[in-house]
Amino acid sequence: MKITEHIANANGKTLFSFELLPPLKGQSLQGIYNAIDPLMEFNPPFIDVTSSREHHGYKEHASGLLEKVTYRKRPGTVAVCAAIMNKYKVDAVPHLICGGFTKEETEYALIDLQFLGIDNVLALRGDALKTDAGFIPTPGGHAYASELLQQVANMNNGVYLHEYQDTSYKTDFCIGIAAYPEKHFESPNLKTDFRYLKQKVDAGAGFMVTQMFFDNSKYKAFVNLCRENDINIPIIPGLKPITSAKQLINLPKIFHIDMPEDLSDAVHACKNDKEVKEVGIEWMINQCKELVEFGAPVLHFYTMGNAEPTKRIASAIF
Ligand SMILES: Cc1cc2nc3c(=O)[nH]c(=O)nc-3n(C[C@H](O)[C@H](O)[C@H](O)COP(=O)(O)OP(=O)(O)OC[C@H]3O[C@@H](n4cnc5c(N)ncnc54)[C@H](O)[C@@H]3O)c2cc1C
Repeated sequence: MKITEHIANANGKTLFSFELLPPLKGQSLQGIYNAIDPLMEFNPPFIDVTSSREHHGYKEHASGLLEKVTYRKRPGTVAVCAAIMNKYKVDAVPHLICGGFTKEETEYALIDLQFLGIDNVLALRGDALKTDAGFIPTPGGHAYASELLQQVANMNNGVYLHEYQDTSYKTDFCIGIAAYPEKHFESPNLKTDFRYLKQKVDAGAGFMVTQMFFDNSKYKAFVNLCRENDINIPIIPGLKPITSAKQLINLPKIFHIDMPEDLSDAVHACKNDKEVKEVGIEWMINQCKELVEFGAPVLHFYTMGNAEPTKRIASAIF
């Protein structure tokens, strides 16, 4: 079922969902199941599975020569989605990214997803390679999420790449996009970022999932800005509890978000990470209660495969 339908069927009740990473190459699916099992009691209508691009590295030969190698650390997004749907009978939402994929590869992935009965995708650009200063589009791929979204929207209209035969079957994907209440880090300001966001909505996005935030006023201001600009699709808050002191520095560095002073003061007052985890969970419970009151359609958790903190928060809310 489409995420928009899940939300409409909930009649204003806030739903619970979460995101997982596919297993590292060479590991089994059991880790994924271990991360899902404890959270099923909160009835997630959907579970997101991230996608990651290739990495480059060097392998040293006995001769001393270095060979450049390209590999994916976490392949398997589509198959993990199929396994989740099969085992738990919930919708799985694969993330699609531009980086590392040609348009043809994206088209084939979308055909696989359609055949598997997957109704939702999250269309993203993806991050730059660690070795590149900025995002460089893959040759034959897309430069922006809006182009990827357009490809999915085209298939929903029966328009495929290279139409040399009867390719008129219309897919019916509900397309999600990323949103940044504190703006995307490459954007000069929120207004510019917002303009591109609106382009994606106008091109057919059905819902948004936000970057994590720790200050609800940022999310509320962003929702209000969207509504004032005729953007009326669901805006799903993405949430992650702090579990260690080093995240005070790492999360702003990686995700370009602010930490509220009260939260950083509380973390600084902790003696160890065990105490930090309690502070992080308590903070997130309060955030969630306020978001439910505000009418957030879904509370969506970035679990990173660690169910325990999310389970404690969800137990206090649902
Ligand atoms: C909910 C969520 C899930 C995510 N999941 C993944 C994942 O699974 N895998 C992964 O690799 N990354 C993931 N990311 C990270 C995301 O891919 C990065 O933040 C990426 O840098 C931007 O992606 P985007 O889809 O917002 O890009 P875009 O919408 O393409 O925007 C990127 C930047 O370009 C600007 N821009 C957009 N359109 C144009 C245009 N036409 N002309 C000029 N500038 C433009 C925007 O303002 C922004 O600054 C996720 C992020 C979120 C919030």
